[in-house]
Amino acid sequence: MASNGEPEQDCLFCKIVAGEVPATLVRETGTTVAFRDINPQAPTHVLVIPKAHYPDAATLAAAEPQLIADVIREAGEVAAEEKIAAAHGGPGTGYRVVFNTGAGAGQTVFHAHAHVLGGRGLEWPPG
Ligand code: IMP
Repeated sequence: MASNGEPEQDCLFCKIVAGEVPATLVRETGTTVAFRDINPQAPTHVLVIPKAHYPDAATLAAAEPQLIADVIREAGEVAAEEKIAAAHGGPGTGYRVVFNTGAGAGQTVFHAHAHVLGGRGLEWPPG
């Protein structure tokens, strides 16, 4: 079935958007929500999601390119607020935006989301 952005009944992140599952919100816009990851992998680990349901970033980009742009812009706003943007300079600045896409790449929640990670040195390549 093609994605149309409608909420999915059993989707954890749709439930966070609806306020049915609690989350520590960082930012919210008309189209996106940013909240802290429940299992942080860095001092800053925030998830930015579209309010609309798409199973992964590629599907989102194909269906609503403006919406994935909103998500990426919000990732930058989170980094600025968390003072990890490169513009802040110094150790621990600079951040990573990751869209795990597909189970083989570590995706476990099938509602598109950007991880915003920073506040520590980040190695390359990632594991
Ligand atoms: P993925 O593995 O790229 O799909 O990322 C899913 C992320 O969601 C993981 O980093 C989880 O720690 C995180 N997560 C799972 N459940 C919750 C929750 O209820 N609140 C916040 N983050 C969650």
